[in-house]
Amino acid sequence: MKKLITSLVAIAIIVSPAIAAKNIEAGPRKGRILHLGDTSAEFFVEPDRTVSIAFYDTEKKPLAPTDQVVVATAEAPTGKKKLEFSKKDNLLVSTEALPEGEHYNVVVQVKETADAKPKNFRIKLDLSNCKGCSNPEYACTCDE
Ligand SMILES: [Zn+2]
Repeated sequence: MKKLITSLVAIAIIVSPAIAAKNIEAGPRKGRILHLGDTSAEFFVEPDRTVSIAFYDTEKKPLAPTDQVVVATAEAPTGKKKLEFSKKDNLLVSTEALPEGEHYNVVVQVKETADAKPKNFRIKLDLSNCKGCSNPEYACTCDE
């Protein structure tokens, strides 16, 4: 029995840091930061439910989109919907809106150039605003 308790304590020590920190970073637009290595992208849902992506350099200064390719897949209960993006000012904006509803996952794939290795980010779409940090819940930075 003592051995079992020792193992459980060991497991608890290993598991707990992952639970405590959500590791979510919000950007200047209160969107969710997606780390791309040296640069970062910010996922933000506009009032019309289109998704806009801003890019930042290492010092969080805005970068105009160049060769980045972004594709998002909304895993909505009504079926998966693929969103493509086009340049609009300093942003990449989805050409269509997210499907109805929320609390489904949106998988965002970002390639820094057309033939770069894609990076995937899974974001739980929760559009209500957090009372703690005032960010949308998908970009909430509170330690809960
Ligand atoms: Zn919060």
